[in-house]
Amino acid sequence: MVTLINTTEAPAKPRARHPEKAHRADSPRLEKPHWIRVKAPVSRGYHETNEIVRQNKLVTVCEEAGCPNIGECWEKKHATFMIMGEICTRACAFCNVATGVPTALDTDEPRRIADAVRQMGLQHVVITSVDRDDLDDGGAQHFVEVIEAIRAASPDTTVEILTPDFLRKDGAIEHVARAKPDVFNHNLETVPSNYLKVRPGARYFHSIRLLQMVKEVDPTIFTKSGIMVGLGEERNEVLQVMDDLRAAGVDFLTIGQYLQPTRKHHPVARFVTPDEFKAFETIAYAKGFLMVSSSPLTRSSHHAGDDFAKLKAARLSAHGY
Ligand code: SF4
Repeated sequence: MVTLINTTEAPAKPRARHPEKAHRADSPRLEKPHWIRVKAPVSRGYHETNEIVRQNKLVTVCEEAGCPNIGECWEKKHATFMIMGEICTRACAFCNVATGVPTALDTDEPRRIADAVRQMGLQHVVITSVDRDDLDDGGAQHFVEVIEAIRAASPDTTVEILTPDFLRKDGAIEHVARAKPDVFNHNLETVPSNYLKVRPGARYFHSIRLLQMVKEVDPTIFTKSGIMVGLGEERNEVLQVMDDLRAAGVDFLTIGQYLQPTRKHHPVARFVTPDEFKAFETIAYAKGFLMVSSSPLTRSSHHAGDDFAKLKAARLSAHGY
């Protein structure tokens, strides 16, 4: 008799991307209107960007968030790098980034990001990250090292950061601001009445205060924030968010349509029309923002390089510096 012993281990079960959402019922999907059209990712520029990202073992929010603009942005060699891993300690109801226990910080990452920025010849780069509530400083020092590495490798490249909220991380916001990124972006994501269900780990007034603190550390740093609409908010609530951001001295506002990554994510309450986006833009300019980008496919890092040039020109003409 021959006894067969199976010595091969069972293949590891793939880790669930959103374990905290698995138990939720599927939400209904609204059919996308004709104005939500995106470019297919097929161009040569797209493939070249893809190659540089892979070679340098980098993570991009373009892929992790399933951004609809990836075909257009990567064709122009514009990507937003996501640092400190691919696993987030928060579980926002709108976000496609995986939730779980993050890996240890990769101390070589600042060098690789700086190499990629140089290879791609970027004039303006956007760096974002997952939330790292597990780290004592929320990842502030890592942000600083990435900014410094880019500055050393590409002194003429302007740096925009899109940070988590550093909630309960004393001194972290000031530490990052002192590294003098050209643009400090922190997204409010939605109106305060939605926070408990859409952005449960965050606190609206802390996020407003973060943006205000950046200006207190260095008023010359441009500040930027964004929200998604179509999450069930009221129009007046959007106008209130604009006022709160202006009270914190924020320069640049982005407003885009929320798109549901999977049926386990927050449902799209409605598709805001292009005319409504235009009206938000007009009102936001009237409230004093230096720059406003408001359209269905606006994302906080979309056209960031061109927008930075316009932002500088707008401040020069309004304030003379
Ligand atoms: S809009 Fe931002 S996140 Fe989306 S593809 Fe462009 S750079 Fe990436």
